Amino acid sequence: MSQDFDVIVIGGGPAGSTVASLLAQKGVSVLVLEKDHFPRFHIGESLLPCDLPIFDRLGLDPGQAGFLFKAGAEFLDERVGGHTVYEFADALPGTPDHAYQVDRATFDHWLLTRSRQLGATVREGERVIEVLTPENGGDPSGVTVRTTATHATERERIADASYRARYVVDATGQDAVIGRREKTTRPLEDFGLGAAFTHFEQLDPAIDHELCVTARGTIKVLFVDDGWVWAIPLGGRKISIGLVSRRRGIKGEWLDQAIAASPFLTRVTMGAERVRKPTVLASWSFHNAKQHGARWTCTGDSACFIDPVFSSGVSLGMVGAADVADTLIEALATNDEGRDDLMDPHALKMMHAYTTFATLVNSWYHTTLLHTLFFSPEPNLEWKKGLTSILAGDVWRDDNAFQTMLLASKRRRKELVPDLVSGKATAPFDAL
Ligand SMILES: Cc1cc2nc3c(=O)[nH]c(=O)nc-3n(C[C@H](O)[C@H](O)[C@H](O)COP(=O)(O)OP(=O)(O)OC[C@H]3O[C@@H](n4cnc5c(N)ncnc54)[C@H](O)[C@@H]3O)c2cc1C
Repeated sequence: MSQDFDVIVIGGGPAGSTVASLLAQKGVSVLVLEKDHFPRFHIGESLLPCDLPIFDRLGLDPGQAGFLFKAGAEFLDERVGGHTVYEFADALPGTPDHAYQVDRATFDHWLLTRSRQLGATVREGERVIEVLTPENGGDPSGVTVRTTATHATERERIADASYRARYVVDATGQDAVIGRREKTTRPLEDFGLGAAFTHFEQLDPAIDHELCVTARGTIKVLFVDDGWVWAIPLGGRKISIGLVSRRRGIKGEWLDQAIAASPFLTRVTMGAERVRKPTVLASWSFHNAKQHGARWTCTGDSACFIDPVFSSGVSLGMVGAADVADTLIEALATNDEGRDDLMDPHALKMMHAYTTFATLVNSWYHTTLLHTLFFSPEPNLEWKKGLTSILAGDVWRDDNAFQTMLLASKRRRKELVPDLVSGKATAPFDAL
């Protein structure tokens, strides 16, 4: 079987569905290939305000759809009695003032449904097994993508398929189908090394006030001895709790131990129902040293994924996906989509964001900068505002003194996220 589309998007997560929706909205013919059937569980539940304009472009309102309003982030260190609240409303002028916390099964399904409504063809249960680009066994005029049915029963129904398009977007998240095949993914090992997480339901109404210090939901991030713990209220008496550890060999019971060691988490989970045994993931932070080429690009986690302590994954993924869509809409209209440097400006833009977050995460794990700023009785207010803007994902502005200070060490930046743009990072990167 062979079909022709302008663009094939591999992966129907937030990055894939965003790029597909924005392309379809402009009349581009798009095929989304997703290996799973939605709704399905996914981790990554706390969003940042930087994706609010994208929801507007998609014609979606997360608040109306019932997702929990997120006013900011709280940081706690129960070992020293430290507690601080960072509300997005207190950021530098112009930073959007709220975000959302989402159950990803519902959220991802909602976004992918929108892609269908806007005209994208979405095929679930089809796993991409081969991508032929002009640089890798394909011909210069287009790309070929081969799939197989994810489930045996469907294999009989769909059989293996092959699709042709003018361009392919790899939005396969941590699977990074192109990067892993080409061996261009590079681990970032200096951050968290593993996570154990689960959901709790039927929370006691008595802890409502404590959970929603700012009247509405905030993520709670706790410093613990070997890493950190998140507590993300999801609305409806439900909360996501996860441990990120810097020790190797993560185990589910480490999460139970972290909860038992924390008076706050013990209060929150007292009497609640744990939905399932903790899910365990290890060694996930990486960057992709080659993120685009002739007729293909990566977007979202398949380009770069940095330790989730500042909840940057979904929102940077959506912002990057929108940028990819905008670049492609223009290029497809002028038959210019085959250039191998088409996505250079996009990759540079995203590198600035990844480097900012990677540097911040590095500070979290390896310096006392953030701990001091969070829990000092008299924090530097200009830095607090600047940090709040970064925590909102508002990282492409030139008036953030905290961000400038953070990125001041070129040596540190290059060590953290080197060579993000096809091996030619140094010169254009310095121009940012
Ligand atoms: C422990 C942990 C905690 C996190 N917490 C947060 C958080 O609080 N906030 C936040 O913003 N982010 C968080 N993240 C990150 C977040 O999960 C990701 O950044 C986000 O899901 C990336 O979106 P994406 O669309 O790029 O990829 P994904 O959401 O992973 O979507 C990729 C899609 O591609 C599909 N796919 C993969 N391979 C194939 C294939 N071969 N063929 C077809 N389809 C395929 C997958 O089924 C999936 O649906 C966390 C991550 C981890 C590991």
